[in-house]
Amino acid sequence: MLVVTGLAKSYPTPRGALDILAGVDLALRPGDAASIVGPSGSGKSTLLYILGALEPPTAGTVTLDGVDPFTLASAELATFRNRRVGFVFQDHLLLPQCTVLENVLVPTLVGDAVDGAGDRARELLGRAGLADRLDHRPAELSGGERQRVALARALIRRPPLLLCDEPTGNLDRAAGEVVADMLFDLHGGQETVLVVVTHNVDLAARCPIRYRLEGLGLKRVAGDDERSAGDEEPAAGGEKGTDPDEESVAGD
Ligand code: ADP
Ligand code: MG
Repeated sequence: MLVVTGLAKSYPTPRGALDILAGVDLALRPGDAASIVGPSGSGKSTLLYILGALEPPTAGTVTLDGVDPFTLASAELATFRNRRVGFVFQDHLLLPQCTVLENVLVPTLVGDAVDGAGDRARELLGRAGLADRLDHRPAELSGGERQRVALARALIRRPPLLLCDEPTGNLDRAAGEVVADMLFDLHGGQETVLVVVTHNVDLAARCPIRYRLEGLGLKRVAGDDERSAGDEEPAAGGEKGTDPDEESVAGD
């Protein structure tokens, strides 16, 4: 379970603190899939980095299955990030000199061994439609294929939290749809909490729980009410299929 309470983030600047996030509350259970939309610069990436323990909050707490990563010593924090969090960024960030299979196995090279890592990597890549591309280098793949490899890499350790920051942002609509299909195929029936930041209307709408970053806070646009603390009101007609992001950019 991912629980965020009273989260705030500001950056110091010469002219005082720049507030990015304030009063963010969120509670997601294993198996939940939530999307977050919002204008550029509204703090979506900042929020994901905090959820993934890459960046500390200025105030408030984040716990994943009862553990607050920001209370951990640095070695434990590194283990937490490696084992507990899968991250997919807009850029695939694959290692160019490594094969597809090796890239997926990278997170298993540090920390404790993953039983059957090779088999799991092959299975994930099979579900990515890349079973016959295991020995290819990233440069030999399309953008969508690279993103599917990045997703397989993020899931190799079966993390309880999967964070995706604009995972289809560099892809055309068709390639983005294949990545989204893989994302929900692999997430379905799993205990992983999925949080995806996106401008892609279709991808956002496929998440049963939907939020928008507005001002400094997170506003629920759709999803089960009781999950989130706070006083957001459910959007009228906020059923699956309504447009969660009118700022969406075509082809994004
Ligand atoms: P989004 O992902 O929604 O486009 P970001 O989370 O990347 O937005 O950024 C939110 C705001 O925080 C932006 O105004 C950005 O310039 C600012 N910001 C992000 N990182 C830093 C930093 N390290 N120092 C100062 N400001 C930052
Ligand atoms: Mg961003």
